[in-house]
Amino acid sequence: MSQPTPEAYERGRGMDAHNAVMRDIRAEKEETYDPHEPTRVWLDEDNTPDGVRTSLTIILNTGGCRWARAGGCTMCGYVAESVEGGSVSHEALMDQIEVCLDHEAEEADDPASLIKIYTSGSFLDEREVSAETRRAIAEAFSDRERVVVESLPDFVDADKIADFTRWGLDADVAVGLETATDRVRHDCVNKYFDFADFEDACAEARRADEAADAASAGVKAYLLMKPPFLTESEAVEDMVSSVERCADVAGCHTVSMNPCNVQRYTMVDELHFRGGYRPPWLWSVATVLERTADADAIVVSDPVGHGSDRGPHNCGDCDDRVQTAIKDFDLRQDPSVFDQVSCECERTWELTLDEEAAYAAPLTR
Ligand code: SF4
Ligand SMILES: [Zn+2]
Repeated sequence: MSQPTPEAYERGRGMDAHNAVMRDIRAEKEETYDPHEPTRVWLDEDNTPDGVRTSLTIILNTGGCRWARAGGCTMCGYVAESVEGGSVSHEALMDQIEVCLDHEAEEADDPASLIKIYTSGSFLDEREVSAETRRAIAEAFSDRERVVVESLPDFVDADKIADFTRWGLDADVAVGLETATDRVRHDCVNKYFDFADFEDACAEARRADEAADAASAGVKAYLLMKPPFLTESEAVEDMVSSVERCADVAGCHTVSMNPCNVQRYTMVDELHFRGGYRPPWLWSVATVLERTADADAIVVSDPVGHGSDRGPHNCGDCDDRVQTAIKDFDLRQDPSVFDQVSCECERTWELTLDEEAAYAAPLTR
């Protein structure tokens, strides 16, 4: 990516402009949601530092992300799922947990070992989830092996993590870092924090880890491949260096590198609608996983909406096969899975990497 002159590079002004546009786009959304129901809940399998485990993923319906209300990230449509009024009571949040436990009891033979809790914001932000609720939720899952909670780095604190580890639960904080490159995070994603804040969050997790007797604590970094305004090759290089930099931070044991998809009521959606944005190729996801296979962390990817126009996609013929290889890599961490897939469209993808320029992106559909 080209470096702007100091005169052109007025970061504060750029962020204000992004936020103003995002507020307008989000205001188009009118639906509201029941605070006693989780946004979503599902069962799956996940690769953890202890091996592959059954997982229960919960998207709690909290007041929503504060940053999203200010404007928020260019690709994130989650604010559209938050409740009216901006906060959810302890009782309502515990009702949501009940619904999730009932769902698990109906769908699974055994309780999941891994519990993942996302809030479309920050679980560790006490304006979203109070200390009382956090402790009650930790107790509700105290018989499990591991819990992952989502949080922006500002709210990560060793004492909050200790609410989980004191039950002998391994605890991970999922941080939506998006990229290790500050300029891309600020100007393409419109996220306000720096890589240094992520490093501080990892240090807090390490403090919690050292203080825990019978449990561990760590960080799972979430990266976003190809925010708007990057070419395909810039997006690939940004992810390769981001995976490597995250893996080098003590305390960060897993990197989840996920391709951007086009969500409604976002700036990415507006750009996509006008032909100014294409989600990344699945070949790009595969190549980053291959190139970072030696990194000192578990590296996984979970492409959402693969093969569709609004999700990461190749030519239409090979999308399912490449997606299967990616899922296989997630569980086995063996880059040779990508030797098993090929397609004629790899040549188009390679041409895109070589020739696409920022001023005329996207080169391919
Ligand atoms: S990506 Fe996270 S921080 Fe950004 S607006 Fe969405 S919920 Fe908020
Ligand atoms: Zn293909």
